[in-house]
Amino acid sequence: MGDRLERLCIEKGLKMTEQRRVIARVLSESTDHPDVEMVYQRVTARDPRISIATVYRTVKLLEEASILERHDFGEGRSRYEETPETHHDHLIDIKSGKVIEFTNSEIERLQKIVAKELGYDLVDHRLELYGMRIDKSKNEVDD
Ligand SMILES: [Zn+2]
Repeated sequence: MGDRLERLCIEKGLKMTEQRRVIARVLSESTDHPDVEMVYQRVTARDPRISIATVYRTVKLLEEASILERHDFGEGRSRYEETPETHHDHLIDIKSGKVIEFTNSEIERLQKIVAKELGYDLVDHRLELYGMRIDKSKNEVDD
């Protein structure tokens, strides 16, 4: 684990400088869909010489090469993940910004039906659920 992204970069013919390697490794190891600022903090913990401009440029480059997937979870900042090998959807905790990945076969099935009814073959989709965590302890007191 941790170097899949770096391998993808090499496969796509991107020149791997030492700084890009550090950034790629940080992104590969991050499972929390970080934004650029979070990536920058993790990167500088390993190599303080890397600037935020370099992180921005590298992230953009990797996104353009389809190595990274960019998400807009309505927070006014883009968040990134390594382009997944298998499809998943996201639930975003609107209080903490935590991102939970899930797949649901029923949703997948229904989306195909909806597309077909509209005269399309479904080729891709994005689904984001926004939620607030249910506070079970509070409910017990209220009841
Ligand atoms: Zn994800």
